[in-house]
Amino acid sequence: MRGGEDWLEVGDRVFTRRYRFFDQQIGVVLGDGEALVIDTRSTPAQARELLADIVRLTPFPVRHVVDSHWHYDHAFGNHDFRPATIWGHERCRARLLEDGEDQRARVAAGLPDLAADVASVVIDPPDRTFAEATAVDVGGRRVDLTYLGRGHTDADIVIVVPDAGVLFAGDLLENDAVPYFGDAYPIEWPATARRLLALVGGPVVPGHGSIGDRAFVERQLGDLETVVAVARRLHAGEIDRLTALSAMPFEPASSIEPLDRALAQLRGELD
Ligand SMILES: [Zn+2]
Repeated sequence: MRGGEDWLEVGDRVFTRRYRFFDQQIGVVLGDGEALVIDTRSTPAQARELLADIVRLTPFPVRHVVDSHWHYDHAFGNHDFRPATIWGHERCRARLLEDGEDQRARVAAGLPDLAADVASVVIDPPDRTFAEATAVDVGGRRVDLTYLGRGHTDADIVIVVPDAGVLFAGDLLENDAVPYFGDAYPIEWPATARRLLALVGGPVVPGHGSIGDRAFVERQLGDLETVVAVARRLHAGEIDRLTALSAMPFEPASSIEPLDRALAQLRGELD
């Protein structure tokens, strides 16, 4: 595979780079004379590091950016990529505008090392939005953006490069770690992941962790289905909370938030 020691070519002219911070995967798709970037990292400094890494990969300018969803670690670097066009789901734009400052405050409080850098973020949401599906022309190559339903958030999209068979899953999938449920719709997540599975035709790049394949997606789908099944049994009073936590697919300490979020959705509190 080309790309040097830090970029991995996962399909024809489709690259990923895995950053130590949050074990995050960033994607780059090269077309004729231009590049598309998938996710922009957490802060201006991180975005500039990414831009410098892209310069070492390709002489082509980044003309297109895709935000897989509205979480800060995927969209707070957007501004440094202008004047590129930034693509995302319509609720990705809305949530960055509504909740961006809350996210900034939470990052500053929770990650003091990042506070100064995150204070300088210009929240710059996608300007090209869609509700169901769209396609981007990257120098003659088609890249498909598709919303498959609620899951990890209310606005996750998947990015598919059809001529290379590569799928970028954003945080709908996470490898080597428990997926983040803090803004999730756990009851709908399995159906969304099942629709994603139908689009898999080769490598699957999660938002965080190592690159996977169809078997990885099936495993994660199984875990997501188990979360729903356990939460339903607890909600129905068939099992107690301790039994529920021990039946979850993750360690008990990592299972509290997924279980509580699923229960909240079953109680109708998330709508
Ligand atoms: Zn993330």
